[in-house]
Amino acid sequence: MEFPRNAAPYRDAGARLLDYNEIYTDHDVDRLTTQGARCMDCGVPFCQSEDGCPIHNLIPEWNDLVYRDQWREALDRLHKTNNFPEFTGRVCPAPCEGACVLGITDPAVTIKNIEMAIIDRGFDEGWVIPEPPETSTGKSIAVIGSGPAGLAAAAQLNKAGHTVTVYERADRIGGLLMYGIPNMKLAKNEVVERRVQLLRDEGIEFVTGANVADGSDGSIAIDTLAADNDAVLLATGATVPRDLPIPGRELGGVHFAMEFLTANTKSLLDSNHDDGQYISARDKDVIVIGGGDTGTDCIGTSLRHGCRSLVNFELFPQPPADRAPNNPWPTWPRIYRVDYGHEEAAHLQGDDPRVYSISSLNFIGDDKGHVTGVRTVEVEMRDGQFHNIEGTEQDWPADLVLLAMGFLGPEHEVSDPLGVEYDERSNYQAAYGHYQTNLPNVFAAGDCRRGQSLVVRAINEGREAAREIDRYLMGDTQLP
Ligand SMILES: Cc1cc2nc3c(=O)[nH]c(=O)nc-3n(C[C@H](O)[C@H](O)[C@H](O)COP(=O)(O)OP(=O)(O)OC[C@H]3O[C@@H](n4cnc5c(N)ncnc54)[C@H](O)[C@@H]3O)c2cc1C
Ligand code: SF4
Repeated sequence: MEFPRNAAPYRDAGARLLDYNEIYTDHDVDRLTTQGARCMDCGVPFCQSEDGCPIHNLIPEWNDLVYRDQWREALDRLHKTNNFPEFTGRVCPAPCEGACVLGITDPAVTIKNIEMAIIDRGFDEGWVIPEPPETSTGKSIAVIGSGPAGLAAAAQLNKAGHTVTVYERADRIGGLLMYGIPNMKLAKNEVVERRVQLLRDEGIEFVTGANVADGSDGSIAIDTLAADNDAVLLATGATVPRDLPIPGRELGGVHFAMEFLTANTKSLLDSNHDDGQYISARDKDVIVIGGGDTGTDCIGTSLRHGCRSLVNFELFPQPPADRAPNNPWPTWPRIYRVDYGHEEAAHLQGDDPRVYSISSLNFIGDDKGHVTGVRTVEVEMRDGQFHNIEGTEQDWPADLVLLAMGFLGPEHEVSDPLGVEYDERSNYQAAYGHYQTNLPNVFAAGDCRRGQSLVVRAINEGREAAREIDRYLMGDTQLP
């Protein structure tokens, strides 16, 4: 009642646009303890319930510990439920805050800021150290894919004394934590690699450049891994992007968002962009089609490259400023938000780059086969469907078009040779809470099982799948 919400600011938009460093400012302890004091220690803490934090972080407990300046204890409570708070504290959209009871009448507690500050303090103080298991079960598990689901599962299985090897086809570990979310949102060497090194030090083996499939063309045969290990966990992500098959799709300069983002981060890490092995937006008119985190990351990256102009198309209408009647507390608030990329675009261009209720009709090209623009039409929703509004056609200049319209599901190169069954959306079929596929020793977790989602949900699935694998191997389990 005494203190208003006061979230930690990002670095000044003008300054952060000049580099790829993280957008966050240093932690302000006074601000954090005051914000921790706003937590009401509710009898039923919805923030850590089903509608709130997917890993059920013990939020009111660590809010209070921070308020009382007991940071070490706060860290211990945080690590009980979350293997990687330094990832979620940076990139989680914080459904916990949407479910915060204070949010019924006032702005929610700054839970995510507090989470990030606790773990950053833990690393700064040297409290986060490798904790290798004391005993070994003699069981071995192959984890395919090193995103948050695979890493969380590996961490938990290793803790239980199993021998864990993680196979990753990319040249660096981390999945979308490494080659999806850009450096300015989640620092690769300082944050992602720091945790991966801890996991290595705890005994987990990582194999990079390891494409697991049917064994042909230099791939590692999944059949062999399944036969040589006691269990296999598929954590391969939802990597098949949704395409936009309109006329002109074949033109040069039209790319999937992940082609753009992956190459950008790899070149940045390999050579600080000196090798030129990335798709540059410099001096280009850029159109990003599709919103969400992927669209925002394309915006932030294009602006840092020095694009000439930037527009972001959204099919859906602009969300309301406040919750709609059919979107009540404690559900996730579907409201208008200004993310870091939108703020940066507004800083450079004067206004928000998003154009709502717009659909792309065709790409326009020159005689060299390169995109020069996009023709669009405005749309309206009637009877649950989008309809074009006649006479609203418009041509937009573009040298670079980035498709950020989500993902359809996992690739099947690793699952087909095993005979894994799929659900109606082409995900690996494995019931939530059990994670076992139709093959007893093959489990699935994360985006490849549930469809594209969030880092925190992938961590949740990885942890729970580890628990089920442990139960399958040992007959019982102590894992949470
Ligand atoms: C651009 C972008 C930005 C995002 N931003 C956010 C955000 O800010 N906050 C948030 O919460 N979520 C965000 N997400 C979603 C989040 O990153 C994912 O939900 C999460 O990473 C899924 O984790 P995962 O472990 O299931 O899969 P992934 O992270 O996709 O990892 C799967 C890994 O498996 C590997 N793999 C696949 N097939 C094989 C094979 N056959 N052999 C070997 N390896 C294989 C892949 O190379 C990949 O490394 C974002 C997603 C994208 C695309
Ligand atoms: S992981 Fe996400 S939902 Fe859970 S406490 Fe942290 S910010 Fe909130």
